[in-house]
Amino acid sequence: MSETARPPSVDALARSLAGTGLPQPMLVEVARAAIAAGDPASALRRAAAAGRSLLQPVINATGVLLHTNLGRAPVPGASDGTRYSNLELDLEDGRRGSRQDRAGPLLARACGAERALVVNNCAAAVVLVLAALARDRDVVVSRGELVEIGGGFRIPEVLAQSGARLVEVGTTNRTRLADYRAAVQAPGADVGLVLKVHASNYRISGFTETVEVAALAGVGPPVVADIGSGLLDAATPWLADGPPPWLANEPAARQTLAGGAALVTFSGDKLLGGPQAGIVAGRADLVAACASHPLARALRPGSLVLGALQETALAYLRRDGAAIGFWRMATLPVADLEARAAALGVGRPVACASVTGGGTLPGVEIPSAGVAVEGDHRAALRARTPPVVARVAEGVTVCDLRTVAPADDAELSAALAAVARP
Ligand SMILES: *Cc1c(COP(=O)(O)O)cnc(C)c1O
Repeated sequence: MSETARPPSVDALARSLAGTGLPQPMLVEVARAAIAAGDPASALRRAAAAGRSLLQPVINATGVLLHTNLGRAPVPGASDGTRYSNLELDLEDGRRGSRQDRAGPLLARACGAERALVVNNCAAAVVLVLAALARDRDVVVSRGELVEIGGGFRIPEVLAQSGARLVEVGTTNRTRLADYRAAVQAPGADVGLVLKVHASNYRISGFTETVEVAALAGVGPPVVADIGSGLLDAATPWLADGPPPWLANEPAARQTLAGGAALVTFSGDKLLGGPQAGIVAGRADLVAACASHPLARALRPGSLVLGALQETALAYLRRDGAAIGFWRMATLPVADLEARAAALGVGRPVACASVTGGGTLPGVEIPSAGVAVEGDHRAALRARTPPVVARVAEGVTVCDLRTVAPADDAELSAALAAVARP
């Protein structure tokens, strides 16, 4: 057998492409495709093409000021303050492309979904899924999950708006598998979906019973899990030290899909740590049905959001949690915060507790550190440039350093010194 007849391994070929700067999972796919095509030498060209297919600044020399394929109006950036992008342009063949071809597929890869679609927020994602997959049909929901997420977003009203019929099962505190089965098998029932809604912003404790997605998947109709927070993977491979203890039992996209959910919906700007967006991820045929529904056009995001979400997705694929502001701040060691608190040189260093907020992980606290200044100085701190927003507890103003960028420590120190001066 000649040396040249033996193809390189996928891993070796992918490693040889590291210089392209693309995340490892993308390089593995490129290497696999090159080997499958019997043309390993094409790997570098394929990697370059994959890089070029990402959303990026382009120079619009068309003279068309609002070019549809270049994201219409230019956005802030570049030398003279504005730039176009390849939002709907395929740089490979010069034809019209889809804005959904980047952030969505990258996120799908990061959570093990077949396909994903990006819309404006998670509320929009839920509305779209219900309208596209359950219009004029029954949707079974536990009475314990008929929740208000916030801002008046109430599951029964959203269901009604999307043209689906709500079938409530169980009770506020206890819903069993048999309740779901009975609703699906009831005479005249036409169940399009079973909907599971994560009670993101509150907890019911005590005499409770709920049914896990894995069990619901056996009932029959596709299970849609509105997990809300956008935790991509419970194993948090983007964090060197693994899942932090405060993550508790937050449902994650990868595990919920692996457990049998046909679709998950989640926010871009909660635990995902990206821009405001909503993601529908899961079975390719169901995501495709959502993508081709007329509402998808009304709910589509623009290039600023898709560009920021693409960067977030690439960071997950690089397993680089430090590149995602939320995860970097949330996992800073308390000792580092204590050192910064001492170095501020103003106020009294104190232990405090951060929270994730945004309607996620209610009751969960992350140990933190900051400084305290006697008295309520909130108004004076807000009046500063840049404004400083602080908490007051028992007549003491507390600044938690976990959420302060280290580059702003000097500014915070000056602000506290100014307001604390007698
Ligand atoms: C936060 C949340 C929503 C709403 O998400 P937005 O992105 O703010 O629209 C919907 N469902 C669940 C379970 C949530 O936690």
